[in-house]
Amino acid sequence: MTAANDGVDVDLVIRNIEFLITVDPERRILRNATVVVDGGRFVWIGRDNEMPPTYRARRILDGSRFVGTPGMIDCHQHSSFQLARGLADEANAREFLIDRMYPYEAVLDDNDVRVSATLASREMLLHGTTCFADPGNNHPSATVEAVTKTGQRMVLARSAFDLRGSDFGVVPESMVSTPEQAQRQAQELIDEFDGSLGGRIRTSVSFRGLNNSSDDLIKGLSEVATAAGAVLQTHAAFSYSTHDASVAKYGMSEISRLASLGVLNERTMLVHCGWLEPGELRLLQETGAGVVAAPSSSMHNGYGNLSRGFAPELRALGVPVGLGSDHACSGPVDLVREMFLVTCGYKEARANPRVMPPEAAVEMATIDAARILGLEDEIGSIEVGKRADLVLFDTDDPSWQPLYNPVSNLVYSATGSTADTVLVDGQVVALGGRLVSCNEADLVAEGRETASKLYGKLDGDRLVTSRWSYS
Ligand SMILES: [Zn+2]
Repeated sequence: MTAANDGVDVDLVIRNIEFLITVDPERRILRNATVVVDGGRFVWIGRDNEMPPTYRARRILDGSRFVGTPGMIDCHQHSSFQLARGLADEANAREFLIDRMYPYEAVLDDNDVRVSATLASREMLLHGTTCFADPGNNHPSATVEAVTKTGQRMVLARSAFDLRGSDFGVVPESMVSTPEQAQRQAQELIDEFDGSLGGRIRTSVSFRGLNNSSDDLIKGLSEVATAAGAVLQTHAAFSYSTHDASVAKYGMSEISRLASLGVLNERTMLVHCGWLEPGELRLLQETGAGVVAAPSSSMHNGYGNLSRGFAPELRALGVPVGLGSDHACSGPVDLVREMFLVTCGYKEARANPRVMPPEAAVEMATIDAARILGLEDEIGSIEVGKRADLVLFDTDDPSWQPLYNPVSNLVYSATGSTADTVLVDGQVVALGGRLVSCNEADLVAEGRETASKLYGKLDGDRLVTSRWSYS
């Protein structure tokens, strides 16, 4: 910011936003709001008619037909699965992972991952998701290349397993390492990437699931995460089959096993957690672990995480619950649609319209997600001093009219496709519903070519389950 006698130069001012849903500590919704952005952060937020006259903006945007929200945060997105859309339908948990996705993942090369992650990032940004946490693949540099290009923020990880076989199934050889290798690779990833791209990349530590991970692997990776202050993430308790395999081998559920290993704390992120046993809700509360609900993948694969899950109860206990779109091969990569699915899914499952109000979904997609990822001081709400990650939704779209309650429209009728303008770190990365930094036609062409090659490599006809013939 440059002080001058008659004013203060700032990068960007967005004026007269019709409704600004701040998700600040008072949960204020401002009408006719203006935000001032400089140096990648919000420097002033308020009613337009109260803006100090001293700001001289290098760029001004008109917000008058838009609803503004914090940039949304997807806590669980496999960006390398974007090219598997349509290859894993009507598959239960075991078939989905063991027969479809792990074999797909095992054949990916650097270029496949770069293209896949770029397309995933494009879909997220155009739906208002400014930050995502990836559970990891074996090509982290290629994943970073993707967000370097699109301008998105992310929490990066590297995948880890150390047991090829388990009661759940067998994973490909190329996805398995020793606990020592996995620890070393996790540390190298942190050293190389944490804080890169001006802070847009943060790193975490991941093991992909419990049944194919030994106690040594889990404890070793937890030590790396704890020493770095990083999030330790894993899939946990997401289907009866993962739960049952854990009980069969270890004599206890996945969550109880993690507790017995002493790795549950406020930097642990557990994805799904639909199959909790009595006492495990309290265990999550006491340890401070965070949970991520991924309603579209549960609905697509029939995991039972809404009909059997406990997101409303966990929230009531103060356990932070985020949202994840999971992957393109289970539906939309659109956190706005996930907000609809989680609220209405629980209302339906409980036959209770009050079980999860729309404000809960917005918290899950913003401030609660930031808390789980340890980024609540930087993102997750529109507050002075925070990074300027913001979305403007176009209220000319039919789903935004009439507009009495913007939170209701956002969660119950809109989709992410109504995102018009997206800011990450104060940079306009999407405008008019199109990416600013990329030629999208080139991305689509590259995606088609790469997907076609992958389809051949995987013998895709074997994986597509269409009951109707093509001619
Ligand atoms: Zn997942």
